[in-house]
Amino acid sequence: MTRAGILTICGKPNAGKSTLLNHLVGQKLSIVSSKPQSTRERTVGILTHDDVQIVLLDTPGLLDPQYALQRAMRHTALRALDDADIIAYLVDAHTQNPTSLTQAAALTSAPRAPVMTVFNKVDTLDAAARSALQEANPDALLISALEGDGVAKLLERARAAMPESPYLYPEDDVGSQSLRFFAAEFVRETALEQLEEEVPYSIACEVEEFREDRRPVYIRAVIYVERDSQKRIVIGQHGTRIREIGRVSREKIEAMIEAPVYLDLWVKVLPNWRRDSNALRRLGFTNSDEESRP
Ligand code: GDP
Ligand code: MG
Repeated sequence: MTRAGILTICGKPNAGKSTLLNHLVGQKLSIVSSKPQSTRERTVGILTHDDVQIVLLDTPGLLDPQYALQRAMRHTALRALDDADIIAYLVDAHTQNPTSLTQAAALTSAPRAPVMTVFNKVDTLDAAARSALQEANPDALLISALEGDGVAKLLERARAAMPESPYLYPEDDVGSQSLRFFAAEFVRETALEQLEEEVPYSIACEVEEFREDRRPVYIRAVIYVERDSQKRIVIGQHGTRIREIGRVSREKIEAMIEAPVYLDLWVKVLPNWRRDSNALRRLGFTNSDEESRP
């Protein structure tokens, strides 16, 4: 009899959720960024080992809903908590007096699944600080998602929490999200890296065409911004910036799919997309009004 279930990784932006997920799956599936809020959709990684399958959910930052995009993000995060068989609540080890998950996420009741409190980034603490943290929080796990300390123990606890069940995904899947999704995420990540603070959070990316049957693989992607002025910034002087974004994105996608890629990259204005529920839906953000479970 196999066992299978869901490990949901949650925590405040920058706690290291994506880094942990990537470490667990050993492949760059989720997007790691030092800019908060960069994970907008939950990303699924899958670990199948010794008759146990663990499906990993990454959550967007649990934020106060301020505009449509953040409401959609919070909704996605809350659903990932509901679906969980066990929850890893990541807290930056430098946080003074961290609040419980229930408080931090302003939940009306504690989640159904057991919650592991996980202090991350302990590689940045000295030995004395580590011991003090463990003594103050005897049940908590101390890990470094970056270097891997403590991750095996976390995984062991997660395995123990998986219920008897058939596998939820085929045994050899690493991620259930399509290559299209990851290609779009790589372009968006690259644009965020290169634009620094100039066009914060106004960027979305959509892959309009993905032709795996061609060599090089043909991908047409669109970067959406909210205003003409932002479009000019993304394109840059004589198109230098968009070319650089395209070059770096293409290399990331090529490394993922292990094939040469022709990336046809466009920039378009979609006014106020972050506040427009039709645009959000089109770009794949879940709209809380019309939810369908997977
Ligand atoms: P998320 O917003 O929770 O998904 O956080 P990310 O995984 O994107 O990480 C945010 C930042 O923290 C990145 O710069 C990571 O490299 C860094 N980070 C994550 N885990 C660790 C860790 O264990 N140690 C250290 N030193 N940095 C980490
Ligand atoms: Mg993240």
